[in-house]
Amino acid sequence: MYALNEAERSAIEKLEAIAAEKIAPFAADVDENGRFPSEAMGALAESGYWGLTVPTEFGGMGFGLSAIAAAVDTVAQKDASTAMVYLMHLCGVAAYNAAGDKFADQLKGAAAGKHLSTLAWSERGSRSHFWAPMSQEELDGDTVYLSGIKSWVTSAGLANGYVATTRAAGSDNPMAVSLYVISDTDSGFTVEKPWNAMGMRGNMSAPMVMERVSVSSSTRIGEAGAAMDVMMGAVLPVFAIGNSACSIGVAEGAVAATQQHLLNSKLHHLDQSLADLPNLRERLARMRIRTDQARAYLAATIGVATSGDPAAMLMVLGTKAQAAEAAIEVTDLGMRACGGVAFSKHLGIERNFRDARAMTVMAPTSDVLHDFVGKALLGMELFG
Ligand SMILES: Cc1cc2nc3c(=O)[nH]c(=O)nc-3n(C[C@H](O)[C@H](O)[C@H](O)COP(=O)(O)OP(=O)(O)OC[C@H]3O[C@@H](n4cnc5c(N)ncnc54)[C@H](O)[C@@H]3O)c2cc1C
Repeated sequence: MYALNEAERSAIEKLEAIAAEKIAPFAADVDENGRFPSEAMGALAESGYWGLTVPTEFGGMGFGLSAIAAAVDTVAQKDASTAMVYLMHLCGVAAYNAAGDKFADQLKGAAAGKHLSTLAWSERGSRSHFWAPMSQEELDGDTVYLSGIKSWVTSAGLANGYVATTRAAGSDNPMAVSLYVISDTDSGFTVEKPWNAMGMRGNMSAPMVMERVSVSSSTRIGEAGAAMDVMMGAVLPVFAIGNSACSIGVAEGAVAATQQHLLNSKLHHLDQSLADLPNLRERLARMRIRTDQARAYLAATIGVATSGDPAAMLMVLGTKAQAAEAAIEVTDLGMRACGGVAFSKHLGIERNFRDARAMTVMAPTSDVLHDFVGKALLGMELFG
């Protein structure tokens, strides 16, 4: 559905094999122990997928939105935690890419599987309203000090590069945002507490406290106070499309598990299987149709976005919300189709069900996305 070209299709076919052999076998353990998906991320690094969107001149694959969607969808079918860690890395790479060759070292590192990136945007002060950071930058010649509390950072303490927001020095406008790349070797930030969540348990999202983190002004992406263009124009499309793909992959995982369970579970006393029950077939059919609908909307969004159509932004916002809702519906149907076995951990559907709930609260949350789309349709300011 993602209209991949030949090179992208070949990369995704290889990724399907990696996902089956090197990601799926660890998914239950990652979830059970709430640990970083090191085997899965290691396999993606080794095979060059950390460089999916890194320009070829820096050793990457140079792919765009279609490949991002296909890759995240493929990985999420086996493990949503890995898919989200991977997506946040691709978001960091999108920010580096927006700065031309300024972050060539990080881009080369990503392509070589040695530099993992993430976003440090959400804050304790402004919560999911990531476009209005409360952290502060302090300019001192070529040195900049960054202070504030980031509330949720995927791969916190494990990433090599953190694309972090602050409010511009001296500004009282919360939307005058500056964007910096903090390196894991910089001093002044601490990761607060380990991740222990209902779902996405391998995400390792944690608060990061920045106490006068000292960085060079050359690590700024764009002009001080003018990062909204990069955030909304370069990073948000990657995040929204990838997040949508993650929801769809989770839904697809639940469809596959339900299909197998209905085929393989016998009612020996009737010489039948669960597949012989029409209500369960109907649930499976609804799951299939809803997942296909969500993926079709995402594919259409990518088509519109890559054609430069001005309608793209509404669809980019819409696709994250619609796919998140689809994943919740589909995984709920899977739970009800597979009964008590789904309630236990045998099928992985309860993991899909828990993981699916993360996408609605990841910012922009589904509530905010619906509000944005409604405001845009009524000619109102999105951030008013
Ligand atoms: C698995 C996971 C990984 C994450 N990784 C990262 C990361 O790598 N980097 C990062 O920066 N952040 C990350 N986040 C944070 C995420 O993007 C959100 O900022 C966070 O989930 C918001 O939680 P909150 O409780 O502060 O939400 P709140 O802002 O308190 O929202 C509470 C409720 O209010 C609703 N709400 C809020 N504002 C409005 C509004 N204007 N109109 C209507 N309803 C509204 C929300 O939809 C939500 O239902 C991650 C979150 C999760 C769950």
